Amino acid sequence: MKIYADYAATAPMRRAAIDAMVSAMENQYGNASSLYAIGQSAKEALEQARGEIASVIGASAKEITFTSGGSEADNQAIRSAALLGKKAGKMHIISTAFEHHAVLHTLKKLEREGFSVTLLPVHENGIVRAEEVAAAIREDTCLVTVMYANNEIGTIQPIREIGAVCRSRGVLFHTDAVQAVGHLPISVADENIDLLSASAHKFGGPKGIGFLYARKGVRLESLIEGGAQERGKRAGTENVPAIVSMAAALKESASSIGKTAPHQLAMRDRLIAGLREIPHCALNGDASQRLPGNVNFCFEGIEGESLLLLLDDRGISASSGSACTSGALEPSHVLLAIGRKHDVAHGSLRLTIAPDITPEEVDYLIQSVKEVVEYLRGFSPMWRDRISGKAEFIL
Ligand SMILES: *Cc1c(COP(=O)(O)O)cnc(C)c1O
Repeated sequence: MKIYADYAATAPMRRAAIDAMVSAMENQYGNASSLYAIGQSAKEALEQARGEIASVIGASAKEITFTSGGSEADNQAIRSAALLGKKAGKMHIISTAFEHHAVLHTLKKLEREGFSVTLLPVHENGIVRAEEVAAAIREDTCLVTVMYANNEIGTIQPIREIGAVCRSRGVLFHTDAVQAVGHLPISVADENIDLLSASAHKFGGPKGIGFLYARKGVRLESLIEGGAQERGKRAGTENVPAIVSMAAALKESASSIGKTAPHQLAMRDRLIAGLREIPHCALNGDASQRLPGNVNFCFEGIEGESLLLLLDDRGISASSGSACTSGALEPSHVLLAIGRKHDVAHGSLRLTIAPDITPEEVDYLIQSVKEVVEYLRGFSPMWRDRISGKAEFIL
């Protein structure tokens, strides 16, 4: 059996998105800035896509700027809000300890430029509290940036409550919604969101394209100098095929949320229940306040990367927040942020499943993980120490 269970890393492209992309490559090959008919045809396709994307999140077309993906959208949103803040003499930013690196590294850079940053703690359930955001807001706070749903542990944040707090205190609110757009219903107006980042390849569109929503009146700063594309907010010839394809993917995924979510939820919970039978393990993140496709566990006494390689041998593509796979020495900052100890954080496994996964596939995942964990524990010194009582179990 072959199971791709790494949808949070990237999703396979939807058929409708591939078809839209190929069609645009064949037919809308003009430069959208050119005045002749072939250019204008590309321009029309571009603007139609912008309108379709805007309507999915309850925005207007002018509030959508296309970017190269989620990382660029995060950088641009945060830099823009920081600059607005600086002009108003406000140089304090609030975020959380478990954001994506596109957010955290941008904030680190801003700190070196004189901003002060408060990273709110994340509770063991992987959820930030709106009251804590409210308590952290100061006179000089210019921006709150909190992700919509976490990419590792899938926990969904109280965005509507945080948005309400920010709006009432006159502070801009950005959310990295890369894991949520196309997966959860979103309304930027109802949720008081000023800036929102999204990426096509997380909802069945192509890689290298995304968008930034900026509420009317929130001025974006261009990160890339050049031509006047995207109303001067993002220079460079627009990637019309990718943009049109992103719109097709988003329309389809947003309209299927209601249809696929109940099944995906049931499959997620079946997977969680099955893996919970493994001794000395823990589910990472709240059991219910999480994305319908996300399962993330820590297994005591093993290394995540060995687990991944052995699962790959069985046809399963999964992910881990552990050392070697991510090329970093530290275990996942997300797992550390929710209070997992280093040893345990190294033994993590993230399975992010397809909306149409079958019960048989879920059972194969459960069986495979059970066998591989048991096998690895068989020759793990860490596990032997715990079994013999030399070291204490953490989980
Ligand atoms: C994938 C991801 C990003 C980065 O998006 P890219 O399009 O790959 O640059 C940012 N934030 C979150 C939460 C993500 O999951």
